[in-house]
Amino acid sequence: MSDTSIDASSSDEGRKRHPLAMETLVSLCAARGFIYPASEIYGGIAGFWDYGPLGVELKNNLKQFWWRRMVREREDVVGVDSAIISHPRTWEASGHVDNFSDPMVDCRRCNKRFRADQIPDEKCSATTKKDADRSHDFTEARDFNLMLSTQLGASVDESTTAFLRPETCQPIFSGFKRVRESARQKVPFGIAQVGKAFRNEITPRNFTFRSREFEQAEMEFFCHPSEREKWFEHWREYRLQFHRDIGIDDSLLRTRPHAADELAHYANAADDIEFLFPFGWQEIEGIHDRGDWDLSRHTEYSGKELGITDEQTKERFMPMCIETSVGIDRTTLALLVAAYSNEQLEGGEERTVMRFHPTLAPIKVAVLPLSKKLAEPAKALNKTLCGLFNTSYDDAGNIGRRYRRQDEVGTPFCVTYDFDSEDDGCVTVRERDTMNQERVPIEGLANRLRDRLEAGL
Ligand code: ATP
Repeated sequence: MSDTSIDASSSDEGRKRHPLAMETLVSLCAARGFIYPASEIYGGIAGFWDYGPLGVELKNNLKQFWWRRMVREREDVVGVDSAIISHPRTWEASGHVDNFSDPMVDCRRCNKRFRADQIPDEKCSATTKKDADRSHDFTEARDFNLMLSTQLGASVDESTTAFLRPETCQPIFSGFKRVRESARQKVPFGIAQVGKAFRNEITPRNFTFRSREFEQAEMEFFCHPSEREKWFEHWREYRLQFHRDIGIDDSLLRTRPHAADELAHYANAADDIEFLFPFGWQEIEGIHDRGDWDLSRHTEYSGKELGITDEQTKERFMPMCIETSVGIDRTTLALLVAAYSNEQLEGGEERTVMRFHPTLAPIKVAVLPLSKKLAEPAKALNKTLCGLFNTSYDDAGNIGRRYRRQDEVGTPFCVTYDFDSEDDGCVTVRERDTMNQERVPIEGLANRLRDRLEAGL
């Protein structure tokens, strides 16, 4: 059931740039508790993934950093958290009922189903070496609506079909008037939200890259029609900088403007921010000029006027909307790919290091007593640190092995409590990237570590 397949057509450029095979990353993620198949003991369920103890920290750190940049640090953006299920009319107004589909084909030989625009370069599994023709035998392409539905209500007769939202932005549009008035916001301003979205993808693949349940962090920015180009440029640059700020190197990022035939029929402009995965350049975020499509359609379908009046000029207009829409799961995957490194050390030793930016690292500090005999004071030290940032206490195995374990999950600092610590009131702080060790006083340690973490190591 679980399709954990990795795209066989992984690009040369992607493979050359990344030292790891996707399979290696998938194994590391499962072994260390970042990400593993949902319902794994039942064989998994295609397109669904669970985040383990480290994965949830990494993903939460990403979401919190997004919220900080997009809401807390902006006077012109407010946040919401809306229901996953909306009134069914929402999806008629948005155009999803009629248009949210991908072309699908079936192979008559192996019965496998594919997205017609994403056929992998592979042989049909129903053929053997003896067959002269080993290609798939496809049916005509037909449209397949990607929305997942559910029934609301107790009895079959009275129940209504509702959809799990395929994108998080529509309740932002339907709630536009309420948010604008309650938050006393004037155009230009934005509404942001982070939450789950669901798409019945025909071929979920490439690990979490294309899932059926995923999270989006979206911001809809409403402006006067005369300012839409200016704001589109602003948000594209602002969002690109965000990806640099979470530690992704410029050489792994690019923007790609959509060609005219790729644009949604209502869109004026759209740029993708792409990341170079081992399987090639792929979209992690979209910046879209959606025009006044959404507010106009919700005005039409609800009968509630969503246009506004400029208080000074008395001009009546429908605001234009610039959207920034980033996939939290795809960006988490990009962070994992970008962070991975495998190093040769002196003496022929190897170490795997996840070089996460400290803001994103799932564990910030590991507290390691040199011997189990020092467990009591080391645990007490851990207790003073764990209220400030996520820590891990580990007293199992030799110290070198424990450092390696922390390197492998990207912990920026290890604090070692040894037999001298009782007397000199100091501990050894080891840095993940340089492996430098420094003897520092326990007094003031928490502030010292926090300053280093905030400064980006
Ligand atoms: P694609 O063309 O790859 O299917 P899209 O253009 O349909 O993506 P959008 O509708 O613009 O994607 O969604 C915004 C963001 O949501 C994407 O950039 C991506 O990061 C994320 N996203 C969309 N679909 C999925 C999915 N099936 N699994 C994981 N993330 C997704």
